[in-house]
Amino acid sequence: MDTTPRTVSRLIEEFHRLPGIGPKTAQRLTFYLLRAPKDQATSLAQALTQLKERVTTCAICANIAEENPCAICRDEARDRSIICVVEEPLDVLALERTREYHGLYHVLHGAISPVEGIGPEDLKIQELLRRLRTEASVSEIVLATNPNLEGEATAMYLERLIKPLGIRMTRLARGLPVGGDLEYADEVTLTRALEGRREV
Ligand SMILES: [Zn+2]
Repeated sequence: MDTTPRTVSRLIEEFHRLPGIGPKTAQRLTFYLLRAPKDQATSLAQALTQLKERVTTCAICANIAEENPCAICRDEARDRSIICVVEEPLDVLALERTREYHGLYHVLHGAISPVEGIGPEDLKIQELLRRLRTEASVSEIVLATNPNLEGEATAMYLERLIKPLGIRMTRLARGLPVGGDLEYADEVTLTRALEGRREV
């Protein structure tokens, strides 16, 4: 018979549902919090609640933000002639870490994947096209999808859609680990990929 108090096993279950957390780690985290000062547990609970209450997606670039439009879209110092298209908000973080890119972003929130049943209509592609039609200042689109099958398919789909608009299109240079995710690439690799971006 399991004698673990229900409250404790509930938190273990919640941790276990998170990606990369097995049953052992879920237990360890729960028992760690049980022993930790009350402040720490309260602060964690508050951070979780506020995450869902305060974080929204930017109406322009679809990146996660607390304000709408987001800080990047509102920043007058950013280069408004270039939009870098990425799959996930984490990719924006990775590119911002390089401090080499000063343009705007557009977050697709995924990539085309027939296997997972994700089509173009599930991504923020219409929003991107609308943006390109209304923002006359845009002269270059950098396709920075992940260097894997889904990322390639998405980039090719966007190429076909955007080319007729007469906007210059580039792709990140090769050299990113194939099959990997942009978010895991180090700053040096990403900077090189940005600098060496090629025309499509
Ligand atoms: Zn934005």
